Amino acid sequence: MSRDDDVLVVGAGQAGVQVACLLRDAGHRGAVTLVGEEPVPPYQRPPLSKGFLTGTLGADALALRDQDYWGARDIGLVLGEAVTEVVRGGHGSGRARTDRGRTVAFDRLVLATGATPRRLDVPGGDADGVLTLRTLADAGRLRDRLRAARDVVVVGGGFIGLEVAATAAALGARVFVLEAGSRILGRVVSEATAQHLAAHHHANGVEIRTRARIVEVVTDGGDVRAVLTTDGAVRADLVLVGIGAAPRTGLAASLGLRTDGGVVVDEHALASDGTTLAVGDCTVLADPTPWGDGETSVRLESVDHAVEHAATAVRTILGESTPHTAVPWFWSDQGSAKLQIVGLRRPGDVATLRPSGSGRHVVGFHRRGRLVAAEVVGSPAEFMALRTLLGARHPVPVEVFADPEVALRQLAKQARSATVTAR
Ligand code: FAD
Repeated sequence: MSRDDDVLVVGAGQAGVQVACLLRDAGHRGAVTLVGEEPVPPYQRPPLSKGFLTGTLGADALALRDQDYWGARDIGLVLGEAVTEVVRGGHGSGRARTDRGRTVAFDRLVLATGATPRRLDVPGGDADGVLTLRTLADAGRLRDRLRAARDVVVVGGGFIGLEVAATAAALGARVFVLEAGSRILGRVVSEATAQHLAAHHHANGVEIRTRARIVEVVTDGGDVRAVLTTDGAVRADLVLVGIGAAPRTGLAASLGLRTDGGVVVDEHALASDGTTLAVGDCTVLADPTPWGDGETSVRLESVDHAVEHAATAVRTILGESTPHTAVPWFWSDQGSAKLQIVGLRRPGDVATLRPSGSGRHVVGFHRRGRLVAAEVVGSPAEFMALRTLLGARHPVPVEVFADPEVALRQLAKQARSATVTAR
């Protein structure tokens, strides 16, 4: 791979944009073309379920870069066109065609195609008032309908569902969350954190029903009226489905690349052909944490991962072979509750609750005595300290973590100066 390669990035989301920008930051000399099927300049998704819905943030505020950035950096930005076909040459090169008939030749291909929301597969699940949320266009539709909605049913108690539930409740709607599992956030946070957040949502008027089995979305003349479950009907004039997103692997599969719940990539962000790169939400990779076992595969859906993974891909393109290691972190604002997570928890990790003040919640996870992850609600300073400690691989034994007299910020300071000294 060389600095003169012409690079085509498919997907102008968080990860694709980061690849293009970092290439130029690093002085890449070849052409950089970024093709995105959405017809709008690249934007951040996190506010779509929060500030954009409430109206505190307009679409302009979401832009990932200023309008004149792309020309100034000589990045060819193609919007409103989807890459539908790729024909390979040798050594990773090839030609891509878009649905508008444009052809882009490349020496190096980067797939940053993201994910697409899962739909509700029941009768009425495709009615007009049943929405999903991924794009700015989706968020625009949801925002418009939320203004008039009185009864909102959110299907799925995951991050996006709960963020929208909190927003809808703040806007004055009656909100019901229907979760199929035995608790909210079952896949992504510990039992203790889920309980803390469930209490927060209850206090804000959001009703949560777990083990819900949805049978049908009942409509009348095309309008949503209710969501029917095996336990009865819940009134609804708007339904938001937040039951996860499937990685977009179609192009990768058409190229014969290995996919397994995402485009399978190695520690250099290389797909199974050893030349195509793939980054962000569309990928699966080995647990990248320093204490990963090298066997567990993960698909990470976060801004932090998109950014860090893009950096790894760029290093690979530039011929530096630094493997991808990271301590991933994530945030989810659910009304006034700010959840922050660092590290990757696994079944069997020992959870320890750190005594905290009211409204705050801090839980750490130890594996073989080593702190490997933490979940924090309402305590950004402690979260920052934990991020530093985990990033520096600083030892934080269970008894230290659990001792409220030990200031995590102080420990983090020590960890920082130890890292500087070690350098
Ligand atoms: P995407 O951002 O999905 O970008 C992929 C792009 O590729 C899309 O624009 C798609 O249209 C395009 N594309 C796909 N196929 C083609 C093709 N063939 N040709 C051309 N273009 C194509 N993360 C956090 O860390 N914190 C949060 O609070 C948070 N909130 C979120 C709220 C919402 C509503 C959503 C949807 C996500 C949120 N996330 C959050 C997750 C975060 O936004 C994603 O992890 C991140 O955007 C992933 O970036 P990506 O580039 O991999 O994928």
